[in-house]
Amino acid sequence: MNKEKERIKQEIEQLREEVLKHDLLYDAGKPIISDTEYDRLYAKLVELERRHPEFQTPDSPTQRIITKMVDGLEKVPHTEPMLSQEKAHTSDDLERFFEKVGKGEILVQQKLDGLTIVLKYQDGILRQAVTRGDGYIGEDVTHAIRNVKNLPAFIPFEGYLELRAEAIIPFEDFERINTDGRYRSPRNLVSGSVRTLSAKTARERGVLVFVFDVIHIEGIEGQTFEKDTERLNFIHTLGFPVVETEVFGPGERERLKMYCLDYSRKVRPGLPYMVDGLVLKIDDLARRAELGYTAKYPRWAVAFKFDSLDATTKLVDVVWTVGPSGQLTPNAVLEPVEIDGVTISRASLANIDNIRKRDIKIGDTVVVARANDVIPQVVSSIQELRTGEERDIEIPDVCPVCGGKVEVYGWRPVCVNPDCSAQKKRRLEVFVSRPGLNINGLGEKTIDTFYEAGLVREYTDIFELKYKKQEILALPGFSEKSVEKMLAGIEEAKKAPLSKLLFALSIPNCGEETAKRIARHFGSLDAMLSLDAEALRLKLLEIDDVGDIVADGVVTYFMDDKNRRAMEELLALGFEAKEVVQEVVRSAVTGKTFVITGALKSGSRNEVKKQIEAHGGKVAGSVSKSTDYLVMGGYDHRTGEGLNPTSSKSKKALELGIPIISEEQLLEMLG
Ligand SMILES: [Zn+2]
Repeated sequence: MNKEKERIKQEIEQLREEVLKHDLLYDAGKPIISDTEYDRLYAKLVELERRHPEFQTPDSPTQRIITKMVDGLEKVPHTEPMLSQEKAHTSDDLERFFEKVGKGEILVQQKLDGLTIVLKYQDGILRQAVTRGDGYIGEDVTHAIRNVKNLPAFIPFEGYLELRAEAIIPFEDFERINTDGRYRSPRNLVSGSVRTLSAKTARERGVLVFVFDVIHIEGIEGQTFEKDTERLNFIHTLGFPVVETEVFGPGERERLKMYCLDYSRKVRPGLPYMVDGLVLKIDDLARRAELGYTAKYPRWAVAFKFDSLDATTKLVDVVWTVGPSGQLTPNAVLEPVEIDGVTISRASLANIDNIRKRDIKIGDTVVVARANDVIPQVVSSIQELRTGEERDIEIPDVCPVCGGKVEVYGWRPVCVNPDCSAQKKRRLEVFVSRPGLNINGLGEKTIDTFYEAGLVREYTDIFELKYKKQEILALPGFSEKSVEKMLAGIEEAKKAPLSKLLFALSIPNCGEETAKRIARHFGSLDAMLSLDAEALRLKLLEIDDVGDIVADGVVTYFMDDKNRRAMEELLALGFEAKEVVQEVVRSAVTGKTFVITGALKSGSRNEVKKQIEAHGGKVAGSVSKSTDYLVMGGYDHRTGEGLNPTSSKSKKALELGIPIISEEQLLEMLG
């Protein structure tokens, strides 16, 4: 064997060993690399074996599926083998799939990232639930699935029914349960919650089940199904939760392609549960039969995979940042790592309590996740990879910025130096920030520059800037025009409503929403300043959602002499500090309830939701009797193109006589 061949053989062997190791860790519920990283390793091995068939061996991990069964769960052979799907990652992969399947409608389903389950019903009752296992033999988990809260206890259908479904745990429940970081992702948690002898765990942990495929329907008289969507709709009418399904016509391949390519960026961040791809299937069942199967996959389906939302990297250091009230927050400094196209080098560690519970140390290999629209977070540390060089994360003895004394309240370290420059700077930043006074031409960066130049220390200094024009102009990046604009913005800020001012003052525990409620309740800053501690406290507690913590924060702030002086100075400067209860913008949307489906062009679902709410409308997650309109992304109301009458949401809307409107029609209603 020549040297080059020898090298390739070695590389293949190394890859096999590595893949095998990760398979075992994965089965133990302790994966140390993300799915995307694993897929890359696996793909590399497959490619090398394909190019060098002489090194193929039957014991390669590419040739078999390893799954460890849980002791005590009964093994059940599947009535039909559960094949996997061919994977697609790129636009080209999709084109190849379109070419292969030819004409016909394609249905698209969210590929939920959980545990696949087969459900068998007879006489209206769940008789058996079996995990996927190795695709041929699974485990009986009927006891766990029977208690899942979104599955109907009885269905109005007596015949035999066999369904495939995905069991998942929403992010919210995952965070509630995974306080010690034991689970890398909701998927690991769902597996541990269902594949257990306990009948209660799955329900307690919030496991939900969504049907995505119908395998058998027997005992249905005089009805045959020509399309998959017809079967899914039938199942849906029996009361089963069905995975979100959209249908794209044969003339919409380009739109379907864009839908897939945009989904991860546009829709995924707003979803309450983990989706790791989209599954595309030919809808017509006769056409499916024609296309048939390869040894491994059905030819009529493809799984368009997204990158994982987590990755493994090294925690290099922890830096503590100082908040406006002196609280110190730990932030992870990471070896840069890419997650779904974004390079991450910082992540939240929340607080020291969180760090201790999750046993995270500096030098650890950690799992970092971006999920559900939040900033990246360190989910867990991989203790198996420790070398002994790791260091504990300690609360600093002194403020990392001013060197002042740090006191720890519970698990909250606070810099108690009243002259801490970090706090002052942070308070000034909050003061001018968008949710604060939102001063035109004076952002957080500019206020930092002024602070460093010694131009501002206190809030009132901002209003003295008009006397320091020459000093400002001497700083880099300022022109006569920009300074004038900023000074006008500063004067304008005095008209800010009380709610904005309260937020701007960095009152502890008083966020944007709380500030609004308080401002509406009191009406003016004068009214608040005129009360003594007890009266202020009682009046605060009258407000919905204001409890002891918020009330204490506000009262302590208002009773502090320095703070009172600062507020009185602002009033003396001409601040109005009043709250006029505003009428919502009235439009055709006011008082109406909308459900949105499909990808929208004018913004993310969340942005559109905010717009509707600003007009006094509501957005609901599912179609019901109280829905007024179903907004369908991609639908053109003029041509009728893009209307998917068979998706579960539109079917429901049509059943209930709820109008389906296009995105354009919604925008018209918003005016
Ligand atoms: Zn400090």
